[in-house]
Amino acid sequence: MTQPIRRANQLFHDTWLPEETRRIRAEVREFAETHVRPVAHRLNTTPESRDAFPRDVFNAMAAAGLYQIPFPADVGGRGLEFPTLATLTVLEELAYYSPGLASALYDGQAILVGKTLERAQEPLRSRYLSALVRGEFVGSFATSEPAASTDLSAASMQTIATRVEGGYRLSGQKRWITNSVAADHIVVLCRSGERLTMFLADMHAEGVRVGEPDRKMGNHAQLTADVHFDNVFVPEDHVIGSDGGGLRVALGALMLGRMGIGAIGVAMAQAAFDFSADYMSKRKVFGQELARFQHWQFTFAEHALGIENGRNLYQKAAYRYDREGDADIEAAMAKFFGSRLAVDVARDAIQVCGAYGFVRELSATGETFPLEAIYRDAKIGEIYEGANEIQRWVIARHIFGRELAG
Ligand SMILES: Cc1cc2nc3c(=O)[nH]c(=O)nc-3n(C[C@H](O)[C@H](O)[C@H](O)COP(=O)(O)OP(=O)(O)OC[C@H]3O[C@@H](n4cnc5c(N)ncnc54)[C@H](O)[C@@H]3O)c2cc1C
Repeated sequence: MTQPIRRANQLFHDTWLPEETRRIRAEVREFAETHVRPVAHRLNTTPESRDAFPRDVFNAMAAAGLYQIPFPADVGGRGLEFPTLATLTVLEELAYYSPGLASALYDGQAILVGKTLERAQEPLRSRYLSALVRGEFVGSFATSEPAASTDLSAASMQTIATRVEGGYRLSGQKRWITNSVAADHIVVLCRSGERLTMFLADMHAEGVRVGEPDRKMGNHAQLTADVHFDNVFVPEDHVIGSDGGGLRVALGALMLGRMGIGAIGVAMAQAAFDFSADYMSKRKVFGQELARFQHWQFTFAEHALGIENGRNLYQKAAYRYDREGDADIEAAMAKFFGSRLAVDVARDAIQVCGAYGFVRELSATGETFPLEAIYRDAKIGEIYEGANEIQRWVIARHIFGRELAG
């Protein structure tokens, strides 16, 4: 397929964005054009397998310095004034071509793992964060279990950390763990006594076993699998945060991850919008282009509004976080809005493109089409990193207070 016009360039005016962020967008767009676009169709449509981890793209991202962007200079990061804004911009640019890749290699690796490690004490923080910035290891972030994901209470968590001399022994099973088939290290939330503690564990340690990748509806480039811990030793100094302070650490990283899902949603919506807007401008039905039908003009005018709002929401969440160190309600709004937008725009984009929206590869010509993958990939945004019901709950708490909203 020829590359559709990037309509964000004419509809979206990022005049208020710091110069720093605009430079990051230009830099990462070029990276994505060179390294992601050519392999995007394969990444987005090839079913999961153990050897499908996109190591070449991971290495290219590290070599291009993309893992420096979220972090301060003392660990080899770029030391940006607005690191969160820049990080989410990276996500949007990568996800325009491959949401699964962006989710695994940037939201998972840089935000969930990196931002968890940022809360570790020294020298753990510097040692592992510097290595992550250089792309020297693949990491996983593990809170979910077979019987507990949304509910991260100590009562629900079945992965147990038991104190032993010099450290802890971990036993239990985590599920849906992104990048685990390729991971060298994992940050893992466990129950220790009556509370939760976050640990940094070695994936090559005795007693760690990773299952086969799950076969999912979408996000094929994001490999997930179960991780089993059988009496795995973790040294005492590998506690991240404090013993019993793990939930705070996990939720801190997840707040940024949620903004990231908002940015990925905006990217998917924009990609579906661009493809279908091009298509509608050329495809004739009943003797005229689809874009001449007011029904579709109005539908896409509303989607343009949605994309503008979704982008503003994630950018505001990031900007406030960079300025004030908090953005709980903005992150919830950005995640909810962006992920729903992606599903809505992808559905209408397929509808207006008809069979050319539904097809993946056209046998007669060998052409490939992107919308079916975007539609499949969009759905998980409404579920992971806090289901959208949880985001509404967070917003409701800000309206009514915890006493009424729970
Ligand atoms: C592709 C992918 C990648 C993932 N990567 C990771 C990872 O790297 N690390 C990790 O730890 N986990 C990961 N997960 C797990 C993911 O975070 C969970 O799937 C998610 O938190 C939802 O948990 P659950 O699937 O167990 O659903 P449940 O917790 O069983 O919830 C099911 C549904 O119940 C509803 N619900 C829940 N609570 C409420 C409520 N209070 N009010 C109303 N409705 C509610 C929601 O609609 C929700 O979707 C991943 C999952 C996928 C599919």
